[in-house]
Amino acid sequence: MNHTITVAAGDGIGPEITDAVLRILDAAQCGLTYEHIEVGEKVYLHGNSSGIPAEAWDILRKNPVFLKGPITTPQGSGYKSLNVTIRKTLGLFANVRPCRSFHPFVKTMHPEMDVVVVRENEEDLYAGIEHRQTTDVFQCLKVLSLPGTEKIIRYAFEYAHINGRKKLTCLVKDNIMKVTDGMFAEIFRRVGKEYPGIQQEVQIIDIGTARVATQPDRYDVIVTLNLYGDIISDVTAELTGSVGMAGSANIGDRISMFEAIHGSAPDIAGQGIANPSAMLNAACMMLVHLGMPQKAEAIQNAWLSTLEDGIHPGDVYREGVSKKRAGTAEFADAVIERLGKEPKQLKAVHLKGGGIPKFVYERPVVKRQLCGVDVFVCDQDSTPDALAQRLLKASHGMLKLKLITNRGVKVWPEGYPETFCTDHWRCRFVGPDALIDDDKVTYQGIGQRQVMQMLHLLTEAGVDVIKTENLYLFDGVRGFSLGQGE
Ligand code: NAD
Repeated sequence: MNHTITVAAGDGIGPEITDAVLRILDAAQCGLTYEHIEVGEKVYLHGNSSGIPAEAWDILRKNPVFLKGPITTPQGSGYKSLNVTIRKTLGLFANVRPCRSFHPFVKTMHPEMDVVVVRENEEDLYAGIEHRQTTDVFQCLKVLSLPGTEKIIRYAFEYAHINGRKKLTCLVKDNIMKVTDGMFAEIFRRVGKEYPGIQQEVQIIDIGTARVATQPDRYDVIVTLNLYGDIISDVTAELTGSVGMAGSANIGDRISMFEAIHGSAPDIAGQGIANPSAMLNAACMMLVHLGMPQKAEAIQNAWLSTLEDGIHPGDVYREGVSKKRAGTAEFADAVIERLGKEPKQLKAVHLKGGGIPKFVYERPVVKRQLCGVDVFVCDQDSTPDALAQRLLKASHGMLKLKLITNRGVKVWPEGYPETFCTDHWRCRFVGPDALIDDDKVTYQGIGQRQVMQMLHLLTEAGVDVIKTENLYLFDGVRGFSLGQGE
């Protein structure tokens, strides 16, 4: 079957490794036609802040897959990441990064390692919603959705199931972020019941990262949030020997993008010495995705045979192990020569790809009840007590002031003088008849009009309100975190 695919050579070493990979794909007779687009540095420097011209979107949206070389993002705050733009615009929800060792041919401290990181690709802190709110305080919003979370978790379970993997580990920080990461872990546990044949565990990301770095062989498939996945997949790739070896897939319902995990390596660009293996592995994932697993396997086997024969690009070349230090083109030629060969020692891979779950999000029916509001106030001079008195006076009992926090820590009532305070205060108001009895609160439903009237009173009294966040109960369950010390 003939497929037309979109290709961007990218920047730095991009054109060299892309040329090498396309030659191997052609030699393996994959029957691909390439539609080239220009994205990246040149486009950025022509004044396009997202690095992709309007006409490229039509081509990207027409073809099922995009094979992308690495891109140089120019320095400066005016440029948006091309990768994040493409991932989010085209709905590429899953970032899949397999990282395995090629011991003894590529030096690694973890010869048995074979880990796949499945990273959520559209949400979390990468929503890009950032604000400076006061002189002192800057904020980045972490946004997770139920459908986005369920989709990535279902994808990870399906991936593990289809590929015969034994274990799926979910990495979160739900001991701290109980609402967001807590929801991610809860959905993992719920969906996991449908996959009793797969061993499942939830780990806190900090100890999880430490263990991935020191005992990677105890992991099989990992599913995690966007930022944690970004970091942990670089750790796993580097552990296998070099970032020059690992490819990645960005999977969407209709369109998917395949690329090396490394960047444009400007330090070695134009020298013909870059390792094309990462992009080649990404291209193999692409072939599987296009329904050509035999072609992918033939290329993988030729590549493994090349590694076994000691023909190694500079980044993985080791005296005593390697026989020949090969340039980019020379390495590609060596792979082409070995098409049809099987590796002797390295495990031949039987690539199966992910399998996109047929997931239709059914929004749960829940009753949402407004029960309070967090009013964020800028005040550079007040003490917590003075601010509380000011708010109590200004709000005229319209709503009840429950607490004030600074950087999330309770400072009123009964704060401690040791707590450092900035000019950014979160003032929590609840219904005037809410029952507050030490640590137990019985919230009372309130109306949006009460909130608006109280905000009016506060601003009339000169309180500098910088933003508000409504507090809701969902079927009576608190949909917001407590302040530290609340
Ligand atoms: P990098 O991955 O480009 O390079 C890190 C180190 O690894 C360098 O020493 C480099 O020489 C080496 N290296 C990387 N790929 C190699 C290969 N195939 N063969 C041999 N050695 C290789 O990371 P960086 O230097 O931090 O970033 C350079 C540029 O790439 C930046 O502009 C960054 O924004 C961009 N970048 C792009 C992507 C992408 O397009 N997906 C990803 C990461 C970084």
